[in-house]
Amino acid sequence: MKVYIARPIPQNAYQILRDGGLDVEINPENRILTKSELIQKLQGKDILLSLLTDPVDGEVLDGAPSVKLVSNYAVGYNNIDVAAATSRGVLVTNTPGVLTETTADLAFCLLATCARQILPADSFTREGKFDKWEPLGFLGQEMYGATLGIIGAGRIGTAMAKRGAKGFDMNILYSDPKPKSDMESLGGRKVEMDELLAQSDFISLHVPLNESTKHLLGKQEFKKMKKSAILINTARGPVVDEAALAEALETGEIAGVGLDVYENEPTIHPGLLKTQKAVIVPHIGSASLKTREAMARIAAENIVAFVNGTEIPAPVNPEVLP
Ligand code: NAD
Repeated sequence: MKVYIARPIPQNAYQILRDGGLDVEINPENRILTKSELIQKLQGKDILLSLLTDPVDGEVLDGAPSVKLVSNYAVGYNNIDVAAATSRGVLVTNTPGVLTETTADLAFCLLATCARQILPADSFTREGKFDKWEPLGFLGQEMYGATLGIIGAGRIGTAMAKRGAKGFDMNILYSDPKPKSDMESLGGRKVEMDELLAQSDFISLHVPLNESTKHLLGKQEFKKMKKSAILINTARGPVVDEAALAEALETGEIAGVGLDVYENEPTIHPGLLKTQKAVIVPHIGSASLKTREAMARIAAENIVAFVNGTEIPAPVNPEVLP
Protein backbone atom coordinates (compact mmCIF):
# COMPACT_ATOMS: atom_id res chain seq x y z
CA MET A 1 0.00 0.00 0.00
CA LYS A 2 1.18 3.52 -0.79
CA VAL A 3 1.10 6.42 1.65
CA TYR A 4 1.55 10.07 0.75
CA ILE A 5 2.68 12.44 3.55
CA ALA A 6 1.72 16.02 2.75
CA ARG A 7 4.69 17.71 4.51
CA PRO A 8 7.65 16.53 6.59
CA ILE A 9 6.71 15.39 10.12
CA PRO A 10 8.85 13.72 12.83
CA GLN A 11 10.74 10.82 11.34
CA ASN A 12 9.50 8.19 13.78
CA ALA A 13 6.31 8.08 11.68
CA TYR A 14 8.24 7.10 8.55
CA GLN A 15 9.93 4.25 10.40
CA ILE A 16 6.66 2.88 11.78
CA LEU A 17 5.13 2.98 8.30
CA ARG A 18 8.12 1.33 6.62
CA ASP A 19 8.29 -1.33 9.35
CA GLY A 20 4.61 -1.94 8.59
CA GLY A 21 5.55 -2.71 4.99
CA LEU A 22 4.16 0.51 3.50
CA ASP A 23 5.57 2.38 0.56
CA VAL A 24 6.04 5.97 1.81
CA GLU A 25 6.34 9.14 -0.25
CA ILE A 26 6.89 12.46 1.53
CA ASN A 27 6.48 15.94 0.10
CA PRO A 28 10.09 17.04 0.67
CA GLU A 29 9.21 20.74 0.64
CA ASN A 30 7.89 22.41 3.75
CA ARG A 31 5.21 24.03 1.60
CA ILE A 32 1.43 23.59 1.64
CA LEU A 33 0.40 21.97 -1.63
CA THR A 34 -2.40 23.50 -3.65
CA LYS A 35 -5.51 21.38 -4.04
CA SER A 36 -4.58 20.41 -7.61
CA GLU A 37 -1.00 19.56 -6.58
CA LEU A 38 -2.32 17.40 -3.75
CA ILE A 39 -4.73 15.59 -6.08
CA GLN A 40 -1.91 14.98 -8.53
CA LYS A 41 0.40 13.64 -5.80
CA LEU A 42 -2.35 11.32 -4.57
CA GLN A 43 -2.74 9.50 -7.88
CA GLY A 44 -2.21 5.80 -7.23
CA LYS A 45 -1.90 6.34 -3.45
CA ASP A 46 -4.03 4.42 -0.95
CA ILE A 47 -3.55 6.64 2.08
CA LEU A 48 -3.02 10.34 2.77
CA LEU A 49 -1.27 11.48 5.94
CA SER A 50 -2.60 15.05 6.04
CA LEU A 51 -1.77 18.09 8.13
CA LEU A 52 -4.25 20.63 9.49
CA THR A 53 -3.15 22.96 6.68
CA ASP A 54 -4.45 20.55 3.99
CA PRO A 55 -8.12 21.02 3.15
CA VAL A 56 -9.46 17.58 2.21
CA ASP A 57 -12.92 17.88 0.70
CA GLY A 58 -15.12 16.03 -1.79
CA GLU A 59 -13.17 17.50 -4.70
CA VAL A 60 -9.87 16.10 -3.38
CA LEU A 61 -11.44 12.73 -2.59
CA ASP A 62 -13.09 12.51 -6.02
CA GLY A 63 -9.83 13.53 -7.66
CA ALA A 64 -7.98 10.77 -5.81
CA PRO A 65 -10.45 7.86 -5.65
CA SER A 66 -7.73 5.34 -4.71
CA VAL A 67 -7.37 7.02 -1.28
CA LYS A 68 -9.26 5.03 1.36
CA LEU A 69 -7.78 6.55 4.54
CA VAL A 70 -7.00 10.12 5.57
CA SER A 71 -4.85 10.08 8.69
CA ASN A 72 -4.79 13.63 10.04
CA TYR A 73 -1.72 14.72 12.00
CA ALA A 74 -3.82 16.70 14.53
CA VAL A 75 -6.63 16.17 17.01
CA GLY A 76 -8.78 18.82 15.29
CA TYR A 77 -10.08 17.69 11.89
CA ASN A 78 -11.96 20.76 10.70
CA ASN A 79 -9.70 20.74 7.60
CA ILE A 80 -11.44 17.53 6.49
CA ASP A 81 -14.98 17.27 5.18
CA VAL A 82 -15.80 14.20 7.24
CA ALA A 83 -19.30 13.85 5.75
CA ALA A 84 -17.79 13.81 2.25
CA ALA A 85 -15.27 11.18 3.36
CA THR A 86 -17.93 9.04 5.02
CA SER A 87 -20.22 9.12 2.00
CA ARG A 88 -17.30 7.88 -0.13
CA GLY A 89 -16.36 5.15 2.37
CA VAL A 90 -13.08 6.90 3.27
CA LEU A 91 -11.91 6.52 6.87
CA VAL A 92 -10.63 9.61 8.72
CA THR A 93 -8.40 9.32 11.80
CA ASN A 94 -6.87 11.88 14.20
CA THR A 95 -4.39 12.08 17.10
CA PRO A 96 -6.33 12.78 20.32
CA GLY A 97 -4.93 12.77 23.84
CA VAL A 98 -1.19 13.05 23.24
CA LEU A 99 -1.23 16.84 22.79
CA THR A 100 -3.60 17.66 25.63
CA GLU A 101 -1.06 18.72 28.27
CA THR A 102 1.25 20.55 25.85
CA THR A 103 -1.61 22.60 24.42
CA ALA A 104 -2.97 23.40 27.90
CA ASP A 105 0.57 24.48 28.89
CA LEU A 106 0.61 26.97 26.03
CA ALA A 107 -2.88 28.25 26.88
CA PHE A 108 -1.77 28.87 30.44
CA CYS A 109 1.48 30.52 29.26
CA LEU A 110 -0.58 32.91 27.13
CA LEU A 111 -2.86 33.63 30.09
CA ALA A 112 0.11 34.50 32.35
CA THR A 113 1.84 36.53 29.63
CA CYS A 114 -1.28 38.66 29.13
CA ALA A 115 -2.19 38.94 32.82
CA ARG A 116 1.25 40.15 33.90
CA GLN A 117 1.95 42.31 30.84
CA ILE A 118 5.12 40.38 30.10
CA LEU A 119 5.54 41.57 26.50
CA PRO A 120 5.29 45.32 27.13
CA ALA A 121 7.43 44.92 30.25
CA ASP A 122 10.04 43.00 28.27
CA SER A 123 10.11 45.68 25.53
CA PHE A 124 10.42 48.42 28.18
CA THR A 125 13.40 46.66 29.76
CA ARG A 126 15.16 46.04 26.43
CA GLU A 127 14.63 49.66 25.42
CA GLY A 128 16.73 50.71 28.43
CA LYS A 129 13.80 52.35 30.21
CA PHE A 130 14.20 50.37 33.44
CA ASP A 131 15.91 53.00 35.60
CA LYS A 132 14.15 52.41 38.94
CA TRP A 133 11.56 50.21 40.64
CA GLU A 134 8.11 51.57 39.77
CA PRO A 135 5.38 51.58 42.39
CA LEU A 136 2.77 52.15 39.69
CA GLY A 137 4.29 50.51 36.64
CA PHE A 138 3.00 47.43 34.80
CA LEU A 139 0.19 46.71 37.22
CA GLY A 140 -1.14 43.45 35.86
CA GLN A 141 -4.01 41.25 36.90
CA GLU A 142 -4.08 38.82 39.78
CA MET A 143 -4.07 35.23 38.62
CA TYR A 144 -4.28 33.65 42.04
CA GLY A 145 -7.92 33.17 43.06
CA ALA A 146 -9.27 34.61 39.78
CA THR A 147 -12.24 33.17 37.90
CA LEU A 148 -11.37 31.10 34.85
CA GLY A 149 -14.10 30.38 32.30
CA ILE A 150 -13.52 27.34 30.12
CA ILE A 151 -15.55 27.08 26.91
CA GLY A 152 -15.37 23.44 25.79
CA ALA A 153 -14.59 21.23 28.78
CA GLY A 154 -13.06 18.29 26.93
CA ARG A 155 -9.52 16.97 27.23
CA ILE A 156 -7.64 20.27 26.78
CA GLY A 157 -10.25 22.42 28.52
CA THR A 158 -10.07 20.17 31.58
CA ALA A 159 -6.25 20.21 31.55
CA MET A 160 -6.37 24.02 31.45
CA ALA A 161 -8.86 24.08 34.34
CA LYS A 162 -6.57 21.78 36.33
CA ARG A 163 -3.69 24.24 35.97
CA GLY A 164 -5.88 27.11 37.16
CA ALA A 165 -7.58 25.27 40.02
CA LYS A 166 -4.61 23.35 41.42
CA GLY A 167 -1.81 25.84 40.74
CA PHE A 168 -3.58 29.18 41.22
CA ASP A 169 -6.64 28.39 43.32
CA MET A 170 -8.86 29.72 40.52
CA ASN A 171 -12.64 29.40 40.53
CA ILE A 172 -13.63 27.41 37.48
CA LEU A 173 -16.75 28.02 35.40
CA TYR A 174 -17.38 25.99 32.30
CA SER A 175 -19.65 25.83 29.30
CA ASP A 176 -20.14 22.51 27.53
CA PRO A 177 -23.21 20.71 26.25
CA LYS A 178 -22.58 17.95 28.80
CA PRO A 179 -21.76 18.07 32.53
CA LYS A 180 -18.18 16.91 33.10
CA SER A 181 -17.30 15.02 36.28
CA ASP A 182 -13.58 15.84 35.95
CA MET A 183 -14.43 19.53 35.95
CA GLU A 184 -16.76 19.15 38.92
CA SER A 185 -14.01 17.43 40.90
CA LEU A 186 -11.81 20.50 40.28
CA GLY A 187 -14.59 22.62 41.81
CA GLY A 188 -15.78 23.62 38.33
CA ARG A 189 -19.36 24.78 37.89
CA LYS A 190 -21.30 24.31 34.65
CA VAL A 191 -23.01 27.58 33.79
CA GLU A 192 -24.85 29.20 30.91
CA MET A 193 -22.61 30.99 28.47
CA ASP A 194 -23.87 34.44 29.52
CA GLU A 195 -22.90 33.82 33.14
CA LEU A 196 -19.47 32.56 32.12
CA LEU A 197 -18.89 35.64 29.95
CA ALA A 198 -20.01 38.04 32.68
CA GLN A 199 -18.18 36.44 35.62
CA SER A 200 -14.83 35.29 34.22
CA ASP A 201 -11.56 37.17 34.60
CA PHE A 202 -9.98 34.84 32.05
CA ILE A 203 -11.85 32.98 29.30
CA SER A 204 -10.18 30.11 27.48
CA LEU A 205 -11.55 28.47 24.34
CA HIS A 206 -11.24 24.70 23.84
CA VAL A 207 -14.08 23.77 21.48
CA PRO A 208 -13.63 22.02 18.13
CA LEU A 209 -14.35 24.16 15.08
CA ASN A 210 -17.58 23.17 13.39
CA GLU A 211 -20.70 24.90 12.11
CA SER A 212 -22.04 25.40 15.63
CA THR A 213 -18.84 26.93 17.03
CA LYS A 214 -17.90 29.29 14.17
CA HIS A 215 -17.95 32.85 15.57
CA LEU A 216 -19.06 31.54 18.96
CA LEU A 217 -17.54 34.75 20.32
CA GLY A 218 -18.30 38.01 18.52
CA LYS A 219 -19.36 41.60 19.18
CA GLN A 220 -22.30 40.70 21.44
CA GLU A 221 -20.25 38.28 23.54
CA PHE A 222 -17.39 40.78 24.03
CA LYS A 223 -19.94 43.29 25.35
CA LYS A 224 -21.01 40.75 27.98
CA MET A 225 -17.44 40.25 29.27
CA LYS A 226 -15.77 42.26 32.02
CA LYS A 227 -13.76 45.22 30.71
CA SER A 228 -10.78 43.60 32.47
CA ALA A 229 -11.37 40.21 30.82
CA ILE A 230 -8.58 38.39 29.01
CA LEU A 231 -9.46 35.88 26.28
CA ILE A 232 -7.24 32.96 25.34
CA ASN A 233 -7.74 31.03 22.08
CA THR A 234 -5.73 27.88 21.43
CA ALA A 235 -8.71 26.12 19.79
CA ARG A 236 -9.28 27.29 16.21
CA GLY A 237 -9.28 30.85 14.85
CA PRO A 238 -12.76 30.98 13.29
CA VAL A 239 -14.34 30.28 16.69
CA VAL A 240 -13.77 34.01 17.28
CA ASP A 241 -14.91 36.85 15.03
CA GLU A 242 -11.44 38.36 14.65
CA ALA A 243 -12.58 41.78 13.38
CA ALA A 244 -14.95 42.09 16.36
CA LEU A 245 -12.10 41.03 18.65
CA ALA A 246 -9.76 43.71 17.28
CA GLU A 247 -12.52 46.27 17.80
CA ALA A 248 -13.25 45.07 21.35
CA LEU A 249 -9.58 45.54 22.24
CA GLU A 250 -9.45 48.96 20.64
CA THR A 251 -12.57 50.24 22.37
CA GLY A 252 -11.60 48.74 25.73
CA GLU A 253 -14.52 46.30 25.74
CA ILE A 254 -12.03 43.66 26.94
CA ALA A 255 -8.48 44.07 28.26
CA GLY A 256 -6.40 41.54 26.41
CA VAL A 257 -6.12 38.43 24.31
CA GLY A 258 -3.64 35.59 23.93
CA LEU A 259 -3.87 33.90 20.53
CA ASP A 260 -2.31 30.79 19.05
CA VAL A 261 -4.82 30.50 16.19
CA TYR A 262 -6.36 32.92 13.70
CA GLU A 263 -9.49 33.24 11.64
CA ASN A 264 -7.68 33.34 8.29
CA GLU A 265 -4.44 31.65 9.24
CA PRO A 266 -1.65 32.58 8.60
CA THR A 267 -3.06 36.09 7.96
CA ILE A 268 -3.70 38.04 11.15
CA HIS A 269 -6.07 40.99 11.48
CA PRO A 270 -4.01 44.23 11.38
CA GLY A 271 -5.79 45.48 14.51
CA LEU A 272 -4.29 42.57 16.45
CA LEU A 273 -0.82 43.03 15.01
CA LYS A 274 -0.62 46.64 16.12
CA THR A 275 -1.84 46.35 19.72
CA GLN A 276 0.22 45.35 22.73
CA LYS A 277 -3.02 44.07 24.28
CA ALA A 278 -2.67 40.99 22.05
CA VAL A 279 -0.08 38.28 22.59
CA ILE A 280 0.20 36.41 19.30
CA VAL A 281 2.09 33.18 18.59
CA PRO A 282 2.10 31.10 15.37
CA HIS A 283 -0.11 28.06 16.15
CA ILE A 284 2.41 26.34 18.43
CA GLY A 285 -0.04 24.70 20.86
CA SER A 286 1.32 21.18 20.41
CA ALA A 287 4.85 22.27 19.54
CA SER A 288 7.14 20.24 21.78
CA LEU A 289 9.35 17.57 20.26
CA LYS A 290 7.92 14.88 22.54
CA THR A 291 4.33 15.74 21.64
CA ARG A 292 4.95 16.08 17.92
CA GLU A 293 6.65 12.66 17.95
CA ALA A 294 3.69 11.21 19.82
CA MET A 295 1.31 12.71 17.22
CA ALA A 296 3.47 11.26 14.42
CA ARG A 297 3.37 7.87 16.11
CA ILE A 298 -0.43 7.82 16.42
CA ALA A 299 -0.90 9.09 12.85
CA ALA A 300 1.33 6.24 11.63
CA GLU A 301 -0.24 3.65 13.94
CA ASN A 302 -3.70 4.57 12.64
CA ILE A 303 -2.42 3.74 9.16
CA VAL A 304 -0.70 0.47 10.07
CA ALA A 305 -3.78 -0.74 11.96
CA PHE A 306 -6.00 0.15 8.99
CA VAL A 307 -3.78 -1.81 6.63
CA ASN A 308 -3.55 -4.81 8.99
CA GLY A 309 -7.27 -4.80 9.78
CA THR A 310 -6.57 -4.48 13.51
CA GLU A 311 -8.22 -2.06 15.95
CA ILE A 312 -7.64 1.52 14.82
CA PRO A 313 -6.41 3.78 17.65
CA ALA A 314 -8.34 6.95 16.75
CA PRO A 315 -11.02 6.70 14.07
CA VAL A 316 -13.17 9.80 13.51
CA ASN A 317 -15.85 8.11 11.35
CA PRO A 318 -15.69 4.42 12.40
CA GLU A 319 -19.03 3.81 10.70
CA VAL A 320 -17.22 3.37 7.37
CA LEU A 321 -15.35 0.35 8.72
CA PRO A 322 -16.69 -3.12 7.86
P1 NAD B 1 -12.35 17.32 23.00
O1 NAD B 1 -13.21 16.71 21.98
O2 NAD B 1 -11.80 16.46 24.11
O3 NAD B 1 -13.10 18.56 23.70
C1 NAD B 1 -13.94 19.46 23.04
C2 NAD B 1 -15.07 19.82 24.01
O4 NAD B 1 -15.81 20.91 23.44
C3 NAD B 1 -16.07 18.67 24.26
O5 NAD B 1 -16.24 18.49 25.64
C4 NAD B 1 -17.36 19.18 23.60
O6 NAD B 1 -18.52 18.68 24.26
C5 NAD B 1 -17.19 20.68 23.77
N1 NAD B 1 -18.03 21.49 22.89
C6 NAD B 1 -18.39 21.25 21.60
N2 NAD B 1 -19.17 22.25 21.16
C7 NAD B 1 -19.30 23.14 22.18
C8 NAD B 1 -19.97 24.39 22.32
N3 NAD B 1 -20.68 24.93 21.32
N4 NAD B 1 -19.87 25.04 23.51
C9 NAD B 1 -19.17 24.50 24.54
N5 NAD B 1 -18.51 23.32 24.44
C10 NAD B 1 -18.58 22.66 23.28
O7 NAD B 1 -11.17 18.01 22.19
P2 NAD B 1 -9.71 18.43 22.71
O8 NAD B 1 -8.74 17.32 22.52
O9 NAD B 1 -9.85 19.07 24.06
O10 NAD B 1 -9.35 19.54 21.61
C11 NAD B 1 -10.16 20.69 21.46
C12 NAD B 1 -9.75 21.47 20.23
O11 NAD B 1 -8.51 22.11 20.46
C13 NAD B 1 -9.50 20.61 18.97
O12 NAD B 1 -10.69 20.34 18.27
C14 NAD B 1 -8.54 21.46 18.17
O13 NAD B 1 -9.24 22.23 17.22
C15 NAD B 1 -7.89 22.38 19.21
N6 NAD B 1 -6.44 22.12 19.35
C16 NAD B 1 -5.58 23.11 19.06
C17 NAD B 1 -4.22 22.89 19.20
C18 NAD B 1 -3.22 23.96 18.89
O14 NAD B 1 -2.16 23.65 18.40
N7 NAD B 1 -3.54 25.22 19.17
C19 NAD B 1 -3.74 21.65 19.66
C20 NAD B 1 -4.68 20.66 19.96
C21 NAD B 1 -6.03 20.90 19.79
